[in-house]
Amino acid sequence: MKRRFFLGSMAAASLPSPAATAARVEVEIKRLKLRHTWTTVMSSSEYRDTVQLRIHREGIRARGEGAPIVRYQESAQSARKAIEAVKDYLATADLRAYQKVLNTVFGRIEGQWAAKSAIDIAVMDWVAQKAGMPLYQWFGCDPADAPVTTFSIGIDTPERTKQKVREAEAYPVLKIKVGLDSDEATLAAVRSVTTKPLRVDANEGWKTKEEALRKIKWLETQGVELIEQPMPAEMLDEQRWLRGKVNIPIFADEAALRPADVPKLAGAFDGINVKLDKCGGTQQALRMIYLARSLGMKVMLGCMVSSSCTITAAAHLSPLVDYADLDGNLLVSNDPYSGVKVVQGRLVLPNEPGLGLRDSPSL
Ligand code: MG
Repeated sequence: MKRRFFLGSMAAASLPSPAATAARVEVEIKRLKLRHTWTTVMSSSEYRDTVQLRIHREGIRARGEGAPIVRYQESAQSARKAIEAVKDYLATADLRAYQKVLNTVFGRIEGQWAAKSAIDIAVMDWVAQKAGMPLYQWFGCDPADAPVTTFSIGIDTPERTKQKVREAEAYPVLKIKVGLDSDEATLAAVRSVTTKPLRVDANEGWKTKEEALRKIKWLETQGVELIEQPMPAEMLDEQRWLRGKVNIPIFADEAALRPADVPKLAGAFDGINVKLDKCGGTQQALRMIYLARSLGMKVMLGCMVSSSCTITAAAHLSPLVDYADLDGNLLVSNDPYSGVKVVQGRLVLPNEPGLGLRDSPSL
């Protein structure tokens, strides 16, 4: 009886169950809740709707995620619709030929870069899991080169800003959001409680080159090591003028969406901020990194508010860049996954195959 049971188990184990082999692609909208109300020049919110993608193929479960950006007319609904349109293709295409798969998908979807990023992340997670190696290894990166990440402090009252800075004790470099009339008060609040190096993001908040010059000259006296997107993305001539007048490195964010934007930014900016949700995933990010490098520019990897899925995908590329601002998952209270960790400010990449994500036990 025992022996028959054993043989029966063996037979069951050697035959893949239908659930393990059936190709399945799932897409859903997930509302990420924020620990603090998140305010920048652009918006203020308590939550962020993302699109989550899972590809089940050949016994592998791969995950992807996109955080659609309202500024570019994207929503969680439009992202889900875009992914729904290529679901059948993702369930049947040979994902090992991922360059072809992603080219095909990008050809079929108009815009919707966060949706494309979700697809890229899931496909690359699948490919690297299939190869049995962590994604950083697939990209040829040494995880020991992963940089320190900043922790972002959104715009708030001086009292709450001080409180947020105290809560960010574990992070050696802070990123401060500015771009309003309250900038001086914000910096004064930060500096009253910390001497840490700061990076400052104006999110296009200063509308003339004179205003940007005045603010940056002041920031240069405040221990600020770089500044992001001081003026609106289209003000490239003014930006070129500004760069010649200040010492602080200036990075493009809203002006650097995708690879084709990079060449025209050389000479106007010192570096670019690459985000998977802006450009359409890891392969597009690699193109931006290579382009910027070939033009002598620095590179930062940034993020939207996301779960550990997107943040971990970006972190696997982070050994290739100078600066990381990969804290979007740290701002969320209901992260469905765990992946990359931050230890003494430094990104520590998972060693498991693919993204190396685990389902969050608390959800
Ligand atoms: Mg920015």
